Amino acid sequence: MKSRIGAVRDLYLKWIDVYEEYRRGFEKEGLTRSLYPVAWMLSSFGLGLEENFFEVVRSRMPVEVYLLIEDCYDKFDCRTKFALAEGRGFESHTVYWEISKELEKLAFPKPVGTQANTHLTEIKDDDYTKIYYESGMYDSPLTWPLLLHEVFHDIYDQEKLQTQLKVPPTETWMREVIIDLYAAMFIGPVYAVSLAKYHERFPGGGGISHPHQGPRLFALLEFLREMVDQKSTFPGVLQTIISQSFAITDGIWSSYKTEKRDLQDRVSRVYEEIKAPASKFLESKHLQTFSEFAMKVSKGSEIGFPEVAMLLESGIPAAVDPRILFNALLLREQDPHPRYVVESLKKWYLSRVWTKAHDEMVQTLFAS
Ligand SMILES: [Zn+2]
Repeated sequence: MKSRIGAVRDLYLKWIDVYEEYRRGFEKEGLTRSLYPVAWMLSSFGLGLEENFFEVVRSRMPVEVYLLIEDCYDKFDCRTKFALAEGRGFESHTVYWEISKELEKLAFPKPVGTQANTHLTEIKDDDYTKIYYESGMYDSPLTWPLLLHEVFHDIYDQEKLQTQLKVPPTETWMREVIIDLYAAMFIGPVYAVSLAKYHERFPGGGGISHPHQGPRLFALLEFLREMVDQKSTFPGVLQTIISQSFAITDGIWSSYKTEKRDLQDRVSRVYEEIKAPASKFLESKHLQTFSEFAMKVSKGSEIGFPEVAMLLESGIPAAVDPRILFNALLLREQDPHPRYVVESLKKWYLSRVWTKAHDEMVQTLFAS
């Protein structure tokens, strides 16, 4: 994490270089009254630089949460460099995007004959994605899967998933609903609970790009409803997870039931339409939907849902794939303690390192 923060810091230092070049460029222009705000902005480095870097340094998310996000990127072969940042919601954008936004505020003329573009290109080449979490949620593990929503945005863009879908992204929020469903199909029912819990704590909003909580949760309820219908095909513990997540999400959604009814009708069909392309996509990545994965886990000999349920009950961290861990958290009535989740993620990561080292050792022994 330290090296990531270091890399992000380097980007912001380059940002200062860009400003320096801009200032040099502007100095060649006669400083008219209309350029005063520009001069002020350049001399103070602008609000952007001052605030944006500290969002990363200030992050209170436990380091182990990086492992959760990294694992998701890895599974989808997505090579995005990221750092967590404390913000006012769950969202993401890059450092290059931030500086571009700041520079847009500057009046013309653009600086000519300076190195500004060279520095900007360097920022673009070494760019980092800042994944924001809502500042009040750093100690609420059940909402952490929402960080993966941002990962799915990257995957969606990188893999040009839109081209595989028949649903036209007529509005930006339609893409959000699609991302939610892709994420839920992979992560499992806990994703719906994450969004529901987040909206429960921070009701209202939705913003321009994100539709209101009513429609978003409604789309996820369609996904959950199907799992509820197929519940009997799952082993016992999973049945509990499925009904729990449906009950929680439906309960929180019901207070938004009447909100944006027209949108709700439109999103109700999205799951049906993306289901097949989404599982085909996962297959192309040698991955499984949560349902397939859960079935495989329950038939396998490794630690599965019933074992995690037991460990959870005794407060012993479980070294299991995050998909098992986070869904299993729904087996308990009360919200999980962040420490438990953090320790489990750490144990899981270390166990993977151990297994890898062990396998390598065995291979070396056989080779000699
Ligand atoms: Zn989004």
